[in-house]
Amino acid sequence: MRITRYAALAAAAGLLLAGCASEAGNQAEDAAENTAAVETDVSFDAGTTMARLNEAGAITIGTKFDQPGFGLLNPQTGNPEGFDVEIATLVAAKLGIDAEDITWTETVSANREPFIQNGQVDIVVATYTINDTRKQVVDFAGPYYEAGQDIMVAKGNPDDIAGPDDLAGKTVCSVEGSTPAQNIRTNYPQAQLTTYDVYSKCADDLRNGNVQAVTTDNVILTGLIAGSPDDFELVGETFTKEPYGIGLKLGDTEFRNFINDVLEEAFEDGAWAEAWDKTAGDISGTEAPEPPKVNRY
Ligand code: GLU
Repeated sequence: MRITRYAALAAAAGLLLAGCASEAGNQAEDAAENTAAVETDVSFDAGTTMARLNEAGAITIGTKFDQPGFGLLNPQTGNPEGFDVEIATLVAAKLGIDAEDITWTETVSANREPFIQNGQVDIVVATYTINDTRKQVVDFAGPYYEAGQDIMVAKGNPDDIAGPDDLAGKTVCSVEGSTPAQNIRTNYPQAQLTTYDVYSKCADDLRNGNVQAVTTDNVILTGLIAGSPDDFELVGETFTKEPYGIGLKLGDTEFRNFINDVLEEAFEDGAWAEAWDKTAGDISGTEAPEPPKVNRY
């Protein structure tokens, strides 16, 4: 049904453009390339973050660079690709900012809060779990997806790991500053935890036999497995809830509300599902789930 509705929208846009001047035609071409149609006729209240970014015509966005399906750097274009990148591009488009005017900055798990706090990035869209600890220093729009912590093991599961309790006495890798690493430290202290700054290094360690498991969100692991299906497999039992939010400066309620509106509109008009289908959904062969409910705390 969402495909039909999207097709109808596209057809309507095409009809409108058929009668327009060449400038509009050029904009349509840009919009097609950039996926999200850039708003050209928006105005924001003076003094808001939206007005500042719209006037600048540019935004800096933190995302992951090594997570297939969510944020993976394409060395050919120099830009990351994935579901988070698509969602972030949608937000930029609603601010009237072209995809080519987005500066992508790699944010690893541990530097997301400081990068937001010191203004190195305007927003973070990076498999970023909303939680109370983080909400003391940054704010979150969303959630726009709900993942869950899971475990990846070597193909064939040689150590018979069926869940987090089986990690006792075993070596497991995760990333510093992530909720899954914290969960292991707090609730599964018998596991021997190794941490890196990024998950691709954990995957290397599992491949080399340096660790017996990798743990983080199921969808991140699914992306890593998709690239190495002969080496890795997913245990497939999630044991936490990881609602993904868009991080922004603490206290910027207008901006948070604006992003929440963008997300709700994307849930409604099919743009969110389309973003899923072409990225994480394509890699994992899964349909877009029901979108979560935005939490306007
Ligand atoms: N969603 C978890 C977090 O925000 C794990 C994924 C990640 O490290 O980006 O910590």
